Amino acid sequence: MTGGRVSGGRVSAPRVALGLFLVFLVAAPFVLSEFYVTLMNYIGLAALVTLGLVLLTGVAGLMSFGQQAFVGIGAYTTAVLTTTYALSPWLGLAAGLVLTGLAALGIGAITVRLSGHYLPISTIAWGIALYFVFGNLEILGRYNGLQGVPPVTIAGWTVGSGRNSYVLIWIATLVSLIAARNLLDSRSGRAVRALRFRGTMAESFGVDTARLKLVVFVYAALLAALSGWLYAHFLRFVSPGPFNVNAGIEYLFMAVVGGASSVWGAVVGASVLTMLKEWLKDLLPALFEQSGNYEVIVFGVLMVALLHRTREGLMPAFARLVPVARREAWPAEAAPLARRERPQPGEPLLEVRGAHRQFGGLVAVSHLSFEMKSGEILGLIGPNGAGKSTMFNLVTGVLRADGGEILFRGERIERRAAREIARRGVARTFQHVNLVGAMPVLENVAIGAHLRGRHGTIASVLRLDRAEETVLRAEAARQVERVGLGGQLHDAAGSLPLGQQRLVEIARALAADPVLLLLDEPAAGLRYREKQSLARLLRELRDEGLSILLVEHDMDFVMGLVDRLVVMDFGEKLAEGKPQDVQRNPAVIEAYLGGLE
Ligand code: ADP
Ligand code: MG
Repeated sequence: MTGGRVSGGRVSAPRVALGLFLVFLVAAPFVLSEFYVTLMNYIGLAALVTLGLVLLTGVAGLMSFGQQAFVGIGAYTTAVLTTTYALSPWLGLAAGLVLTGLAALGIGAITVRLSGHYLPISTIAWGIALYFVFGNLEILGRYNGLQGVPPVTIAGWTVGSGRNSYVLIWIATLVSLIAARNLLDSRSGRAVRALRFRGTMAESFGVDTARLKLVVFVYAALLAALSGWLYAHFLRFVSPGPFNVNAGIEYLFMAVVGGASSVWGAVVGASVLTMLKEWLKDLLPALFEQSGNYEVIVFGVLMVALLHRTREGLMPAFARLVPVARREAWPAEAAPLARRERPQPGEPLLEVRGAHRQFGGLVAVSHLSFEMKSGEILGLIGPNGAGKSTMFNLVTGVLRADGGEILFRGERIERRAAREIARRGVARTFQHVNLVGAMPVLENVAIGAHLRGRHGTIASVLRLDRAEETVLRAEAARQVERVGLGGQLHDAAGSLPLGQQRLVEIARALAADPVLLLLDEPAAGLRYREKQSLARLLRELRDEGLSILLVEHDMDFVMGLVDRLVVMDFGEKLAEGKPQDVQRNPAVIEAYLGGLE
């Protein structure tokens, strides 16, 4: 492989598209009429809120119908402070952000953990509640709202006109877009992208998913509050109407139309729907010869039609217009990461004492005990449904044991969370491949190194994480290379054949620099030659001092590789010992070979 190469020099098509867009943005206030400049302002304001939703809903998978309420808090806070109390708009901004942040923390702490439909429903509830608060508080001017909000001044420059507001709104929008892109392209961003479908996996590599969801939720709320502040000082007037539940649904439309997982989709969605709304507002009442908000109906129909055709929104269609050879930066040579201190060979590593786990009436693991010494490859075998994967889940904290003790390096871990166990040097692969399919192989593997980095959300937004990021990506690249997938570094993980996806899982676990590696059927789906090289790799790793607990169906693969075997059947231990002894055990032959299809 060609290491140490960084793509550069060539001007790629997306850069050109981005450049044209920027040229348009700069030229717009000079060439467009006042009407269209105002429309562009609305687009920018909506794009800010939609961007938050793209992160929250599209990327992290948390659906919110309530963003307009945060826009409202941002708008009303500054309106009250600058009119009633005659304070500076900048104080209004700070206060609005603080208030929104606190509100989002409070609401988020309660609702973000809710699963399924509870979250969207509760977002509707708080949206309605806040709308009535805005409409009924005397200090907020009730349904009449607050007049005479002053313009913003920046170093003596008054942002009074629509064209001046344009500058402020679009600078804020562009900075937010860049910040969001920075965030997604980082250690935190990888974890955020795993939240939607791969929460269990993320926890197994040390991500505190509940906390991260809250962070994204607050981040999206702050973007909405920023939009609200800009709105109040651009319009110079605030009333409850724009913060109605309708508005929340429209923002969600915009996120979906733009393509809910693409940062620039926020601009596409906000543009398309804002312009469409403006156009329909004139057209529809004329058509029906009555005034009314008919555009909402049209939006609904369009959204259903769009989702029917493409779940990805319009952004991929736009992206196809600008074809690119995707050549992403190859991690430059970087100093290796610090490695964990390893136990001496032969030290007790894992002790399972009477572990027990039931699913309702079904006993999956029944009072099972076994031990593992450091430097060993231990095979855990048994027919399908014997309880092997459940045992893995108990050791790694994905599932809680109903009874028994599990000790790792002498410490009880059976009550610890998966991410705390990961921190102690336990890494695993999943029998059902658990990758973020749309993300490149390199980034998937870099999730494994999550605990070896420390920079968080704020550092990544500000790009203060670059040195660490280079080291993490280089480590990930090294592990990908090690499992023999160096040529697929930048391919979407989901596009690989299943056998190779299993290798990506192994690389990701290795990126954690584990003391104990748990592999759940790693050779399934591999061809003969690939199995041989996997066996060679596992032996090498053992010789380097790694301990491996292995579940595998392929007997040839297991027998030649493991130091010892534990045989399970119906959740119980049937036999234990060296491969050749176990192989001759009559009970094993009876149960295992009988049960093997
Ligand atoms: P193995 O990995 O050895 O094939 P598993 O540990 O996956 O076996 O499953 C052991 C038994 O527990 C099976 O009968 C399986 O159906 C059951 N089981 C596993 N996970 C769950 C679950 N989350 N809910 C209910 N039953 C489960
Ligand atoms: Mg299994």
